[in-house]
Amino acid sequence: MNNDLRLIINASKFAAEYHGGQVRKGAVARPYITHPLEVARIILEEGGIADVEVLAAAILHDTIEDTGASREDISEKFGDRVCSMVLECTDDKRLDKDDRKRLQIVNAPGKTAGAAVIKLADKIANVRDITFYPPNWTAERKSEYIQWATQVVAALPSGNEKLRKVFAKAVSEFQIKANL
Ligand code: ZN
Repeated sequence: MNNDLRLIINASKFAAEYHGGQVRKGAVARPYITHPLEVARIILEEGGIADVEVLAAAILHDTIEDTGASREDISEKFGDRVCSMVLECTDDKRLDKDDRKRLQIVNAPGKTAGAAVIKLADKIANVRDITFYPPNWTAERKSEYIQWATQVVAALPSGNEKLRKVFAKAVSEFQIKANL
């Protein structure tokens, strides 16, 4: 049996079950699972990165933060490397929102290569969602998000030039649509 495919299918099923019932922000209530799957797709198709453990961690990246999934469960099912990448992409929910956002910038330079790729693709996916599936936010709040995401991306360790260009393009698409 192909273990790479098994990892991806099982991570997708695990994330779909844990995110079950959750929807993305925005006028169209898309199932939450579309987001982690899109992050993995961006890494593979737009970043040209086919590291199967990075792709599995991308699919699982919001499960610890936003669902009842435990780190033990993820490391047992998907291995220590996948689990540690997911943990690197998990905010501490005990902190308030401003602190979590500030810490994403502060902690970005220390990310491992795999987690840096996931964070970059996550921000690309979120900027595109704000552009094309806008949440019910003021123009100011949207702009603040884009600025903050840009700071996080800039603080990540160097590398991933391809995805950095994709991010810059997503930001300019936002600006065009927002008439900035
Ligand atoms: Zn995410």
